[in-house]
Amino acid sequence: MRKIDLDRLSTWVAYKPSLCKGCMGYCCRLPVDATVDDLVRMKVISQDEALQSARKIARKLQKDGIIVSFRASKMLFQIAQKSNRDCIFLGDDRLCTIYDLRPDVCRRFPTCSPRPNFCPATPIEK
Ligand code: SF4
Ligand code: SF4
Repeated sequence: MRKIDLDRLSTWVAYKPSLCKGCMGYCCRLPVDATVDDLVRMKVISQDEALQSARKIARKLQKDGIIVSFRASKMLFQIAQKSNRDCIFLGDDRLCTIYDLRPDVCRRFPTCSPRPNFCPATPIEK
């Protein structure tokens, strides 16, 4: 069987929507950069908190375990991952627990993936 390696883009497959049903969702192991607008939509900060300095927001979210880092030059907050690299918002059922509120970069995947329009599709083992 074809072996997907998340870190070897040559093993990824051409994306088509039908692949997502029953997939392990390894795309949710890729680093996710969220903007302040994303963070408000995700309800991890309030509208009022969004008016604070980005560094203050980053400190709070890092303390809460929501982000791991903040890139001031791009104003991007990297969402934390579990020890297996799953995004902290990925559920045990391999579905996003905040799907309707998810960051913009997740909405645009796989057009914005490291290998555009390809993804690490891997069926859930039954
Ligand atoms: S890895 Fe690909 S097929 Fe699987 S959920 Fe993500 S986009 Fe869909
Ligand atoms: S926010 Fe949701 S869609 Fe985006 S990586 Fe995390 S689990 Fe996946």
